[in-house]
Amino acid sequence: MNEDEIRKLRRRIDKLTFKILELMAERKKLAMEIGEIKRKMGKPIINLTREKKLTQRIHEQSIKLGLNYDSALRILNILVSEGRESQGEKDREPAFYRIFREAKEMDRRGNKVIHLEIGEPGYGPPETVISKLKGYLVKKYMTYTTPMGIEELRKAIIEKVNSRYNLNLGTENIAITPGGKFAVYAAITTNLSPGEKVVIFDPSWPIYRLIAEKAGGLIVNIETRIEDNWEIDLSSLEDVIDESTKLILLNTPNNPTGKMYRKRELDEINEIANRKNLLLLSDETYSEITFNGMESLLEHGYQNIIYVNSFSKTYGMTGFRLGYVIANKQIIQRIKNLISLSITCVPPFIQKAALYALSSGEEEKYRLHIRKNLMEARGILSEAPVEFKAPDGGLYIFFRVKRNKFNSANFAEKLLLEEKVAVAPGESFGNYNEFIRVNISGNFEELRKGLKILARRLRENQ
Ligand code: PMP
Repeated sequence: MNEDEIRKLRRRIDKLTFKILELMAERKKLAMEIGEIKRKMGKPIINLTREKKLTQRIHEQSIKLGLNYDSALRILNILVSEGRESQGEKDREPAFYRIFREAKEMDRRGNKVIHLEIGEPGYGPPETVISKLKGYLVKKYMTYTTPMGIEELRKAIIEKVNSRYNLNLGTENIAITPGGKFAVYAAITTNLSPGEKVVIFDPSWPIYRLIAEKAGGLIVNIETRIEDNWEIDLSSLEDVIDESTKLILLNTPNNPTGKMYRKRELDEINEIANRKNLLLLSDETYSEITFNGMESLLEHGYQNIIYVNSFSKTYGMTGFRLGYVIANKQIIQRIKNLISLSITCVPPFIQKAALYALSSGEEEKYRLHIRKNLMEARGILSEAPVEFKAPDGGLYIFFRVKRNKFNSANFAEKLLLEEKVAVAPGESFGNYNEFIRVNISGNFEELRKGLKILARRLRENQ
């Protein structure tokens, strides 16, 4: 009798489960239809006001039905995320990557391109680091090592950070990663569950969105504007946070704008994150390339903060693939497990070279190089129909082209094909199609040449 009862109930459960799947398919079809209409009308796919309204109704409905609101919200977020995907909004390749591929292909065919698009520092690794590295290419540094990174490197970085920001962190608070990008990937994937929300301030490095989407997160973009000096509107931050929000991503100094957030803003964002019990990921990859000092989120206590940095820009060591994460012990343990399961460890000879770079003092030289290039670039761009805020740090200038209906991707494509100058279209960093990003960290003469061509094309309105 009992067995019979269970069988019957199971049949009903199965029926319901399949019904849910059918409803999901129907929802997806409708989302696609809406996407098609929006595309024809030229309207944006994402509508935060509508999503917010739906969230409120889910709240009321889940109370009424006696459901757990958090779970209901996460399921809604997964559906919304699916909807975005079927409307072609997810996994959209930023035009920037296409430009980069084409520019590399032109190089290969012997058409030498001036590269102002990618975030490669023009200076490359310090000669002293290269010659030291040769000495580390010995058996002793060619074995497996600990997933967290070698003790001496972790200690050296932590000591530097402690003394700079007046902290008291230990080596249990840091993990060495193969580059800053992996650090961001590890931080997001080990902390985010499908259906949880991630807040990203735009314009932003497109990788954040792509990683968070891969982890099943629902992205909430908050746009900042050049008219507001790229400052964050904190009331819109409060407004988008709900029970399903898990992570806020901050990048200071920012790629692409060069904006560095000041203590007041950092304090306020930190206060909101603490009050709402959210994690705050602070990507400070450009922290050593600043022109007006540096203020770090690390100065605000590290319980809820995941701090990411890298040797790629500071020392021009992009191909070494060396970055790190600083966070509380539990988060570092989770990241350590991911490293151990995936890459095992960062090669020890690379870590030794990084340890040497830390004490090389080369960052000052590179900062001066970029500062000099920045002055020159500002001069050249002042003769073009563009506007921008002088960056506080980083490798870039992000400018708006003062021209009607300017299309950054089309312009970048034409500039590459006709003038062999590669730039990054603003559309790749969010809703900034009238902007262009240029990397100013390269060779001084090349930069001048490239920017003069760019300025001429903009003046000629081509
Ligand atoms: N964060 C930001 C904001 C970046 O622009 C980059 C590189 N473009 C990185 C992190 C990661 O660099 P890497 O992986 O080379 O350390």
